[in-house]
Amino acid sequence: MIGAGSSGCVVASELVRSGHRVALVEAGPDYGPYSRRWPRDIVDARRRSARHDWGFEAELTRGHVTDEQRARVMGGCSAHNECAAVWPPREDIDGWALPGWSSAEIWPLIHRIESARGGSDERGRSGPLRTLAWTDRSLATWQSLFIDGAIRAGHLPLADAAAGSAPGVGPFYANLRAGVRLNTAFAFLDPIRKRSGMAILARTEARRLEMRGDRAVAVICSHRRTEVAIRADRFIVCAGTYGSPMLLHRSGLRSHSLGRGLQDHPGVAVTFRAQRGAPQELRSRNAYRSQVVLRASSGTTSYPWDLHILPYQAEGELYIFVFFMAPRSRGAIRPGPGRPRIKFRFFEDEGREDLDALGAGVAIAREVASRMPLVQATDRAFTRATATQPRWIRSNVTNYAHATGTCRMGTDGASVVDPDGRVRGAVNVQIADASIVPRIPRANTNLLSMLIGMRLANRSREPSRR
Ligand SMILES: Cc1cc2nc3c(=O)[nH]c(=O)nc-3n(C[C@H](O)[C@H](O)[C@H](O)COP(=O)(O)OP(=O)(O)OC[C@H]3O[C@@H](n4cnc5c(N)ncnc54)[C@H](O)[C@@H]3O)c2cc1C
Repeated sequence: MIGAGSSGCVVASELVRSGHRVALVEAGPDYGPYSRRWPRDIVDARRRSARHDWGFEAELTRGHVTDEQRARVMGGCSAHNECAAVWPPREDIDGWALPGWSSAEIWPLIHRIESARGGSDERGRSGPLRTLAWTDRSLATWQSLFIDGAIRAGHLPLADAAAGSAPGVGPFYANLRAGVRLNTAFAFLDPIRKRSGMAILARTEARRLEMRGDRAVAVICSHRRTEVAIRADRFIVCAGTYGSPMLLHRSGLRSHSLGRGLQDHPGVAVTFRAQRGAPQELRSRNAYRSQVVLRASSGTTSYPWDLHILPYQAEGELYIFVFFMAPRSRGAIRPGPGRPRIKFRFFEDEGREDLDALGAGVAIAREVASRMPLVQATDRAFTRATATQPRWIRSNVTNYAHATGTCRMGTDGASVVDPDGRVRGAVNVQIADASIVPRIPRANTNLLSMLIGMRLANRSREPSRR
């Protein structure tokens, strides 16, 4: 297995538990089972690690380049993300229309992933990843101000802002306990680390698969500047939306679709300032960054809601983000020998409609912000309403860090993998991570990546149908 991120840790756990022998190769470091040896910036859910990052850059729109964070450590992006535990809406998964992927078939798997405290029957109950909803008492002031403002603006309060299909505002469920970010290495690998079938090779970067015809025979890795060949019967690639297509490309498994179909949720950020006399906590550098979300409708799609509007606090700054959750635009990465060239191409082609959706979202955010005391937007365009216009949106564009889709799964011959995650043109290579998502759902992608891992680990135990 290549990659020990959100998907990879789930796949490894499933395979080892069912009696397989697994070598798990991860480019980043491993600090062992959860303990004080883990760096604070990984474990403390209020912090974000810049030390464990691949250092990618991405072009969001033409000429607008930004850092594209991707973790390089056991647990992958689940080890540095915001812990928002959101299942994708079932209808979005059904919309993929892929055999074996109807929500009725895959939903039982959520109980093998999540163990939620309370909440609706749409949460998992018996999995190793513990989640809970933020309570009123645990919300930072900036988050509470936003909820109150949204309710005053007429939005419905929700107990779990990720459940059901109704629009409204409420707290996220979060995969943390006592401030500790529960990444997938803690949840899924710790219980199986000592099993005889499990070998973890950290600080080991897979360079390429060695192919003999349509069969991979080894993965060639670099470990402390030494080349290592690991032989296996089957190779499961969980290196993420950038790592997986890069590895296939370096292995000579290059189809026309490889790297195309990249999607993320486009958005904009509005900056706020605490007014004189406001609580000091609004200037804190140590608050939880993201705890609540407003699901609202842009009116540009047939979904009951297609926007995430959320308050965010980081490095002493206050923001409201507006994200369009049903984007039409698609970008691409160009794999190569070094770093990938990542281009999201937001608002190009049919994606131009995404601009209108974000404009509608900014208008809703203005309504909410106008009912929030103690703070003031720093950008005059926002207060004057010109922020709803395409020009402002283009120049303030950001992304939600939910990159997917570079190794598209499908039944058509042009797709990179089939619905069992098998790479076309290679009989014993599977991909099981966010890169295979055929269309990004209206949700954050951490639980989705785990669901993909759980689904395909179970598939990989079945004999090949080729
Ligand atoms: C900053 C940030 C915040 C986010 N916040 C949230 C959130 O709050 N909620 C949510 O639902 N989603 C969130 N996401 C998205 C979510 O975390 C990702 O979609 C998800 O973790 C992707 O899982 P994955 O298994 O596909 O890839 P990853 O988790 O990225 O795992 C890939 C792993 O493969 C390793 N790897 C890559 N190439 C190689 C190689 N050649 N050899 C060996 N190892 C390799 C990497 O080091 C990494 O550990 C966030 C993402 C980011 C970046």
